[in-house]
Amino acid sequence: MSTAQCHCGAVSVAVSAPITDVNVCHCQACQRRTGAPFGMIAWVAADAVTVTGMTSAWTRTAASGRGFTSRFCPICGSNILFEAPLKPGVIGIAAGAFADPDFPPPVRSVWEEHRHPWVMLPDGAAQFPQGRPVLPHKVNP
Ligand SMILES: [Zn+2]
Ligand SMILES: [Zn+2]
Repeated sequence: MSTAQCHCGAVSVAVSAPITDVNVCHCQACQRRTGAPFGMIAWVAADAVTVTGMTSAWTRTAASGRGFTSRFCPICGSNILFEAPLKPGVIGIAAGAFADPDFPPPVRSVWEEHRHPWVMLPDGAAQFPQGRPVLPHKVNP
């Protein structure tokens, strides 16, 4: 069991499955939402995720034309959960919210055309200049 939480602790997210699908995104929206050079999200099967506490939501239109919903703590503003129609049945969790140095490294890095040049990715991470190509019938390759 891994547990993520927001900055103030009002929202916590417990995960009962192994975390494998960790993504880094260098897009300008992720830079702005995090205040950091890139966003890092773990995508987990929704039935393995238990959220405690209230969240607020905001949906933007992603480059794909689809909605991308961020959920955040209404008290401290930490952006902790994500939902994307591209990834049905899974919930995104802000990787940093686990505050775990042993958290699994990213398997995929997207929107590298906006990557700060000093940001290095671990060996084995699949790298894409823009969003990941849509692979029908394969949610989590
Ligand atoms: Zn909070
Ligand atoms: Zn992004």
